[in-house]
Amino acid sequence: MGTRYLIIGNGVAGITAAQEIRAHDPAGQITIIGDEGKPYYYRASLSEWIAEDSTTEQTYARTTGFYEAMRIENVTGRVDRIDAERKQVSLESGDQTPYDKLLIATGASPNAVPIAGLEDPMAYRTWDDARKIKEHVDPQTNVLILGGGVLGLELAGALVEIGTRNIAIVQLLDFLGPPLLDEHAGRWLERRIRADGLTLFLGDTVERVEGQVAHLKSGKTRDFDLFVQSVGVRPRYPEVPGLETGRAVRIDEHGATNLPDIYAAGDCTETCVRSQGRWQPTRIWLDCARQGRVAGCSMAGVDASLTEYPFLNASILYDIHYAYIGDPNAEGGVAHILENDRAYRKVRLVDGNLAGAMLMGDRRGMMPMYRAIGLPVAEYGDVIARSDFPWNDLTGKDWEYLFF
Ligand SMILES: Cc1cc2nc3c(=O)[nH]c(=O)nc-3n(C[C@H](O)[C@H](O)[C@H](O)COP(=O)(O)OP(=O)(O)OC[C@H]3O[C@@H](n4cnc5c(N)ncnc54)[C@H](O)[C@@H]3O)c2cc1C
Repeated sequence: MGTRYLIIGNGVAGITAAQEIRAHDPAGQITIIGDEGKPYYYRASLSEWIAEDSTTEQTYARTTGFYEAMRIENVTGRVDRIDAERKQVSLESGDQTPYDKLLIATGASPNAVPIAGLEDPMAYRTWDDARKIKEHVDPQTNVLILGGGVLGLELAGALVEIGTRNIAIVQLLDFLGPPLLDEHAGRWLERRIRADGLTLFLGDTVERVEGQVAHLKSGKTRDFDLFVQSVGVRPRYPEVPGLETGRAVRIDEHGATNLPDIYAAGDCTETCVRSQGRWQPTRIWLDCARQGRVAGCSMAGVDASLTEYPFLNASILYDIHYAYIGDPNAEGGVAHILENDRAYRKVRLVDGNLAGAMLMGDRRGMMPMYRAIGLPVAEYGDVIARSDFPWNDLTGKDWEYLFF
């Protein structure tokens, strides 16, 4: 009998690990337990699905024959508890499943702010959430989104695309988009969003709800038909006695936890940034995939490590494509900013070297800029924020077409 690999979580971290295990251990038995009852899908595509820019099939990340072709048993169920000594997991259904090697890839759950009078608020994380939201909206729907961070704004942008304009966003900080945006960039986005006719309550929150009316801390009120909370996420994982955690499951550079034969990957983890001596939660797709790959290799006995690399995330904020490269928002250094109605480009230097960039609306040069982090660029002055700056010449390669 081959090694029994058990993976909890049918998301990008779990699936990437499963693929890696299969590549290195053709005889192993791979089982994935997931509680959504869905094949693996792109969470980041849910907004495109709401906006009707992609079909249901396009949100699936693998074809229907994937599990069979990879000989992965896909079980629907929720794991409640992991017994590391007996090497078995207990499911909510009462079933027990043994393992030789286990991966915890259980992702994150949306935070919920308790609000008096608000029962069962909607969240925005899963396919089911997206479907419920979509079922409730039409162009006349009065939508209230609590939270002006990345996901709340992404949802607002998707709803605007299908003609829903009666949208109010309530944001505790007095600018939009943190931690991706600093205040200056947040103001740029705010102007864009207000120009679309959305209502913003900044520096405010919802204190209580009476019927279909939200009462804000400022004393203002807002009617709504649909109330969605988007106030961040917290790592999620089953009960595991003895597991080392901080804000999330702690893993080493091989994806291993402190318990024998138990690994973890994705949004449920945090990793140590040794150069800064701190633990950092995992939050983006690319990092989840990287961790899944490394954990899968380690589980199959193949040497692989996570390395420290500058941060990169490229996605959509409201309806604007952005790229967040390196560290554009920290204190200190010199920032060059070019902005107009269409685009916002901020490039930050520390000691004359490229430290990071935030590009919105015009992401040209993002890959070569990523490769140029740490290079001396002070001599070019503020032209480095222009989208026609020849980054490829500076890095000596055509990085636009060379991704990782
Ligand atoms: C709407 C949205 C848009 C996003 N857009 C982007 C983007 O543009 N770019 C980007 O980089 N990132 C984006 N993200 C974040 C990105 O999707 C996540 O970082 C990534 O999906 C996390 O992958 P994961 O495999 O760790 O966890 P998940 O994808 O959450 O998968 C974990 C799975 O495990 C299941 N599970 C949890 N507990 C149990 C249990 N006890 N038993 C069984 N199953 C369990 C969960 O239900 C889930 O299906 C977005 C997220 C959302 C919600």
